[in-house]
Amino acid sequence: MLSIVPLGCYGSDLENKKCISMLVTPSTVIDTGSIMSSLDTNQLLAIKHVIITHSHFDHIKNLPIFADFMLSLGNHSFTVYTTENIMAQIMDNIFNDLIWPDFTKLPSRKNPTIKFQPISFDVPFTIEGIEFLPIEVNHVVESLGFILRKGGEAIAYSGDTGICENFVNHINDDPSVKTICWETSFPNRLEKLATMSKHLTPSQLAGELAKIKRNCNIHTFHLKPNLEDEIIADINSIESPMKIIPMKQKRPITAS
Ligand SMILES: [Zn+2]
Ligand SMILES: [Zn+2]
Repeated sequence: MLSIVPLGCYGSDLENKKCISMLVTPSTVIDTGSIMSSLDTNQLLAIKHVIITHSHFDHIKNLPIFADFMLSLGNHSFTVYTTENIMAQIMDNIFNDLIWPDFTKLPSRKNPTIKFQPISFDVPFTIEGIEFLPIEVNHVVESLGFILRKGGEAIAYSGDTGICENFVNHINDDPSVKTICWETSFPNRLEKLATMSKHLTPSQLAGELAKIKRNCNIHTFHLKPNLEDEIIADINSIESPMKIIPMKQKRPITAS
């Protein structure tokens, strides 16, 4: 069965509300905002596939620490799946031997802790029987959303995005998508900030939902944790035939 377990589902950290990490299988995670505080040692050692949606800190926060953890526990390696551009941004600004060591050459270039698997928009790839279709979404930096598919089931995942025709079109073109994880970062009151930072408010999300040609279950995520109550009140005021459910950490999202 296809499912996503949100380890962290917020657009920042506050108390037990954690930055974005979505467990897709025991070995596969989308983004690394909170894996170190959500998984135990054995669960961390099982992670072999790390998909990175974009370079922003709330999505890569635990990647440097995770690499150090894997190296220091022996010869453990994992693969990072992202675009060439996003990988270059992360290497140039984090794994640059200044902020943090270059784990693509540790312990050796031949056998590194971080292996890089470049992915491209609209070119699907498969990890453990799950197909991921990378979708270019509308954010302030290059950013990925996905359609995840296994058997006849599919889940669309927006990543960080503002209003995005490409994401809407991909969903409308794929009748097997009935579940959508859609970011909703700011309350309606902060629409200017949402638009400037290419995120969504509940009222902007409602505009996107009106473009979707079939009823789906919508799971909202990436809420700013300090504004959660206000955002959820705005979400609850959306008038739509679709079921809209604020995502909860550790509560699995299923395709049907
Ligand atoms: Zn983010
Ligand atoms: Zn972002």
